[in-house]
Amino acid sequence: MSQAERIDGKVFAEGLRGQVAELAASFEQRSGRKAGLAVVLVGDDPASQVYVRNKGKKTIECGMASFEHLLPAETGQDELIALVDNLNADPAVDGILVQLPLPDHLDEQAVVDRISANKDVDGLTPVSTGRLALGLPGLVPCTPLGCVMMLKNRLGSLSGLDAVVIGRSILVGKPMAQLLLKESCTVTIAHSRTKDLPEVVRRADIVIAAVGRAKMVKGDWIKPGATVIDVGINRLPPEPGKEKGKLVGDVDYSEAVEVAGAITPVPGGVGPMTIAVLLRNTIVAAHRNEALDLAEDSI
Ligand code: NDP
Repeated sequence: MSQAERIDGKVFAEGLRGQVAELAASFEQRSGRKAGLAVVLVGDDPASQVYVRNKGKKTIECGMASFEHLLPAETGQDELIALVDNLNADPAVDGILVQLPLPDHLDEQAVVDRISANKDVDGLTPVSTGRLALGLPGLVPCTPLGCVMMLKNRLGSLSGLDAVVIGRSILVGKPMAQLLLKESCTVTIAHSRTKDLPEVVRRADIVIAAVGRAKMVKGDWIKPGATVIDVGINRLPPEPGKEKGKLVGDVDYSEAVEVAGAITPVPGGVGPMTIAVLLRNTIVAAHRNEALDLAEDSI
């Protein structure tokens, strides 16, 4: 059997950013201002700093305004809530993202809950989560939304397909399942208590792995021809003489590529697409905030 098609997240992300840039330009013409994204980072974790800088750079490249708020690790809850309130009230800001996780002394849920639902580009507030569950328009978490976009791009209609989502987190697994249900898939959510996971996965036309365990999903778990989306990002221990270990997904790529119809690699699959979807959510929020029409299904 031939090898699975490799779904290239970088190419997909580039296309999406191109669409966002066009919409950002027309938004500026129509509204008289740039769409804006504010990112808040508390603490000095170097990986998060790189991630935030990269978001800012990509935001500006798409023709939107970027507001970075880098706060010291000892920032208090009241101070952080006051910043979120200011951003909620700022008409130049269409989207607010608080980089998670926050330091332990801060109440993460209370901070996220404070973000206005109309600026919740991470889709994590109770209002956004509730709207997704009710099937109402709203802002949806970036990673699962991007996974559905990549699936539709490859498969067209997902209606009637069997989808297995491994993982039930608020950030990925649960919204992923809701979105696939909205596309009329028959959805199974698997987790750490699922009995006979390989057999459950073997039923799936679509497999989404969002677990955080290196190469857990084996080739003989995959139904021949299935589409496999690997959300996991795991770093292996470094090989002798190397400083850093390799990044791998939750799926054993070298086995699965021999069986699947299409598969996302790690790195280069789901990861690069997540920031592009954040920019997509920001331009969608900006149009809603200015009451400008936008065919949201087209992006
Ligand atoms: P969480 O740790 O919040 O959730 C992991 C889920 O996997 C849980 O629901 C857990 O089940 C389940 N699980 C754990 N062990 C097993 C097992 N042996 N069999 C079946 N299910 C199991 O992780 P996230 O959802 O936040 O992230 C998942 C992965 O995706 C991570 O590797 C993360 O780095 C990556 N990620 C990548 C992103 C990207 O942009 N590419 C964005 C976000 C995350 P239970 O609930 O029963 O404990």
